[in-house]
Amino acid sequence: MSYRQSLAMYQLKNLPGFICMSECNLLEKCLFFNDKLKSMPAASDTMKKLYCRWNFAKCARYKVAIAIGRKEVPPDLFPGDSQRANNMLLQYNK
Ligand code: SF4
Repeated sequence: MSYRQSLAMYQLKNLPGFICMSECNLLEKCLFFNDKLKSMPAASDTMKKLYCRWNFAKCARYKVAIAIGRKEVPPDLFPGDSQRANNMLLQYNK
């Protein structure tokens, strides 16, 4: 998928109420999904089901990866850190 296609999908998926109900296409190399973060949360399995395998468009890591680039995803960013991801996107778009 090209960057433009990914961005278009990202924008579509962020429409209010949109639920993907499919696996994230970043699973394979994602530090969170592969338990590579320094401190994995106790609820990481639940988060993987909720975000990685069901509604990845709501994942903070996914948002940053698609909008800014995978290399810009902070290693300690958790899927539920929406506020932090939004702040990063705001800074990026200034
Ligand atoms: S943590 Fe986010 S970016 Fe990583 S695999 Fe799960 S949904 Fe995708």
